[in-house]
Amino acid sequence: MQELLKKYAQLALHTGVNLQEGQGLLVQAPIEAIELVRIVVKEAYEMGAKNVHVEWKDDQLTYLKMKHAPMEVLETFPEWRKDAMVSMVKEGYAVLNIYGENPDLLQDIDGKRMAAVTKASSTALKEYRDYLMNDRARWSIVGYPTTEWAQKIYPDLNAKEAKEQLWKEIFRIARADQDDPIEAWNEHNQLLRNAREYLNEKNYAKLHFQATGTDLTIELPEGHIWHGGAAKATDGVTFNPNIPTEEVFSMPHKYGVNGQVTSTKPLSFQGQLIENFTLTFKDGKVVDYSCKKGEGALKQLLEADDDGASRLGEVALVPHESPVSQAGIIFFNTLFDENASCHIALGKAYPTNIKGGSDMKEKEMDQYGVNDSIVHEDFMIGSADMNIDGITKDGEKEAIFRNGTWAISF
Ligand code: ZN
Ligand code: ZN
Repeated sequence: MQELLKKYAQLALHTGVNLQEGQGLLVQAPIEAIELVRIVVKEAYEMGAKNVHVEWKDDQLTYLKMKHAPMEVLETFPEWRKDAMVSMVKEGYAVLNIYGENPDLLQDIDGKRMAAVTKASSTALKEYRDYLMNDRARWSIVGYPTTEWAQKIYPDLNAKEAKEQLWKEIFRIARADQDDPIEAWNEHNQLLRNAREYLNEKNYAKLHFQATGTDLTIELPEGHIWHGGAAKATDGVTFNPNIPTEEVFSMPHKYGVNGQVTSTKPLSFQGQLIENFTLTFKDGKVVDYSCKKGEGALKQLLEADDDGASRLGEVALVPHESPVSQAGIIFFNTLFDENASCHIALGKAYPTNIKGGSDMKEKEMDQYGVNDSIVHEDFMIGSADMNIDGITKDGEKEAIFRNGTWAISF
């Protein structure tokens, strides 16, 4: 176990944030991850980190605050916390988020309280988030199997067994159980690079998704860019924002999405699960929706802001046979579930998914069809029966996915 944790920590620091000598590191982690965090911090200093700052989180403390704090507290995000986070990324810190939380944690918290917190933190952290979403800071999210999360996935196992089982899956999916995880990631990144280069060269005008409950056409804006695997930060150093990652992704035109799409896995939004939902789009906007479970949370998501939360900011292609889908389980955690399946995201688009996007002003973004929002929520739409066609500027159709996987070999 010690050996695996060390490999996992090294993977997060080298392949994930690609920490450089003399650089600072911000680590965000649940207190349950203390053993891993200590290894991460030790490795980081050995790699030459100038400082490692750890920000602890705990599900129970989050819950108590959400339950008991007065509205005025939930509606404000502390200035000092915002300043601290902004100053670290401004100073060139890398950000490593070790992530695992109980997906049902905030189930019984009133929607208005949840919305207040989302709004306050998204508004306050706009500058911080801009650093990350524009690759001006190197960042990475890696999974950590907290006990309550593990037990949600494996309700028949006891706490210890559930956690062990989830560790096993996380190590396998992250390729941390291989002889040389960093080399395995170099190869994996090469495959994703081939896929994104193919799509960039094709420069499709539209994508057409078809599966049970889905018939959706997504227009891609002029100048759109496909990304996937390793990203390059503005300082020229590569990093992997997500471990795992199996996707190539781009941005839909905010006014160019039409048809119907049905989710294929539950979406965990603010501690609440939204299941089996269908969205109908007209000219980019959700005009109708239905939902088997979590309708209140879905409504809250779609109405998180005036307009952007009901339009798309991401379209991502993931083959159905990815290591994450091979696990054959629902993780109730977007970092994993989004890498099991093709997905789209409601809300903000990554400015890096369009030429010149990082320098665009609000009005220009709108003209190019770049969506802006205080949220970015991925949800899964892929399945073994999904077919995707690319439609060229001349209106010709070409197969991209057949039966849930690439119709092209890279
Ligand atoms: Zn994605
Ligand atoms: Zn996303």
